[in-house]
Amino acid sequence: MDVISHALWANALFRKKKWAELGIFFGIFPDVGFLPIILHVLFATPLPYEEALSSVPHYLFIPYFLLHSFVALGIVALILFIWAKEYLPALLGWFLHIIIDIPVHDGFFATRFIYPISNYGISGIPWTNVWIFVGNYLALGGIYLYLLIEQVGSEKKRKAIMSSGFSIYDIMKELKENKKGD
Ligand SMILES: [Zn+2]
Repeated sequence: MDVISHALWANALFRKKKWAELGIFFGIFPDVGFLPIILHVLFATPLPYEEALSSVPHYLFIPYFLLHSFVALGIVALILFIWAKEYLPALLGWFLHIIIDIPVHDGFFATRFIYPISNYGISGIPWTNVWIFVGNYLALGGIYLYLLIEQVGSEKKRKAIMSSGFSIYDIMKELKENKKGD
């Protein structure tokens, strides 16, 4: 899935957690592994994209495969569990990234979720497929619209409580002043 979608899904799910920012960071982190590949394609070869991709040396794919693997995630989780437990829940962002990517990658780029133990991956429907792409953004649009409505609603409620609070305060003040006048 594209990086923006990963960030939006992670934000929608984790926005209320106190580790939300780190969760979103981990939600896009695995795609950092694509950088060596794209840098090679763009700058290290004059070949057009498709051919350039097949000219990328295999070791440049290793970070990408590792970061999309539950094995690497498990090792990092273990390290955080020992030394920095408070950051452990934020790894849910990384977990979510792999889960989302498994059904929407295929062929060579199929998510190798137990790499390097095995190269096994499910050949799904790539996220560049127009139905997957549009469906994904429609789902995100629906969720963010709901969140917006929810936010406007709670803002209205807050204002109503505030104003009713003030009117009670005003009545009390009035009563007190009337008493003084007696
Ligand atoms: Zn990814």
